[in-house]
Amino acid sequence: MEKIKMTTPIVEMDGDEMTRILWKMIKDHLLEPYIELNTEYYDLGLEHRNETDDQVTIDSANATKKYKVAVKCATITPNAARMTEYNLKEMWKSPNGTIRAILDGTVFRAPIVVKGIEPYVRNWKKPITIARHAYGDVYKASELKIPGAGKAELVYTAKDGSETRELIHDFDGPGIIQGMHNINQSIESFARSCFNYALDTKQDLWFASKDTISKKYDHTFKDIFQDIFDAEYKEKFEKAGIVYFYTLIDDAVARVMKSEGGYIWACKNYDGDVMSDMVSSAFGSLAMMTSVLVSPDGFYEYEAAHGTVQRHYYKHLKGEETSTNSVATIFAWTGALRKRGELDGNQELMEFADRLEKATVDTIESGEMTKDLALITSIKNPTVLNSEDFIKAIAKRLQFPAVK
Ligand code: NAP
Ligand code: MG
Repeated sequence: MEKIKMTTPIVEMDGDEMTRILWKMIKDHLLEPYIELNTEYYDLGLEHRNETDDQVTIDSANATKKYKVAVKCATITPNAARMTEYNLKEMWKSPNGTIRAILDGTVFRAPIVVKGIEPYVRNWKKPITIARHAYGDVYKASELKIPGAGKAELVYTAKDGSETRELIHDFDGPGIIQGMHNINQSIESFARSCFNYALDTKQDLWFASKDTISKKYDHTFKDIFQDIFDAEYKEKFEKAGIVYFYTLIDDAVARVMKSEGGYIWACKNYDGDVMSDMVSSAFGSLAMMTSVLVSPDGFYEYEAAHGTVQRHYYKHLKGEETSTNSVATIFAWTGALRKRGELDGNQELMEFADRLEKATVDTIESGEMTKDLALITSIKNPTVLNSEDFIKAIAKRLQFPAVK
């Protein structure tokens, strides 16, 4: 059989620990036998980040601007323990943070839905994608503990020196205050990323905040979304047969619970943080969650939503068997390959992505899975496979799709 060819490279960002092991297995068993893989390889493993003073992370993000599509393995974000473990020159920043700062954009997280791993919410039939704004609000806030009686104000000093003030509170005794901000430009790119992703995936888009209480802050989010929608996306949405609507965050939560899924839920930074954990755990497992960073300029970076699965890696190093779930990492690859195919008009590549996803889902639905899924599946007597055997089981199904 002739291998599928690729005209343009994908940016390949390798990573750390157990996911680095899975990365190689996925390439060996599931990709390279079928595709003449054309990637520009960047090693974001912590050792190489340290050797290059983290330049490799910056280079990989810039390459993503050039080629438009990247696939990323999970990486270690160093902390004090990692400083000693890897003898680091510096406590390097989170690669995801660095890449996000360069590409700008919004992170979309969607569960991979399979029969036998049932959502805890009975009526959820289709995935719910959370689009989380990744800038500002409480994550870039200034806070003060107020020790006692006194007046707290918000003060804005314009370039010409003129001041605008707003009373926060006249304190009689101790208390707390917080000042947070966002930037119109960031909200605008958040909105455009969401509208583009909705068109891309042909799903409705919901956006919610608390504009009735926050008449300036949250209301600005609402207005920016609406203005951009009316000016740039209304007709495209109608043509695609999808809907954008805004509602209050509490109303959205109630609707989400009663819905059957199948839409994108755009959330402000904090709401997205909390709601994505709720949605992912309600769908069953972090190992069954994909994540893609979509920039307003049309760059896409695909990854798994989980980390490097350190505990399993240490077992692996001791020569013990592991049963680590590779589904989210496989879907990061299929997402990137499908997008590459779409941008290049490479039908074969897109079809391969579909086939690999189907083989993965079929493998689980036929009862062969990793331990994390075996613990929560409704399938009777599942076969628990180790990390490599699970990937090999998918490979077999990819080769002989009829095998059930
Ligand atoms: P983690 O790697 O997501 O793993 C936490 C636990 O969740 C695991 O110990 C395992 O539970 C379970 N788990 C996660 N993914 C799994 C999979 N694919 N298959 C089976 N079980 C899975 O989070 P962490 O241990 O907190 O973080 C480890 C490293 O990852 C850290 O250095 C962190 O900086 C990094 N990280 C990277 C990213 C990223 O690159 N996007 C995201 C998050 C964290 P059991 O041990 O019970 O089996
Ligand atoms: Mg969180």
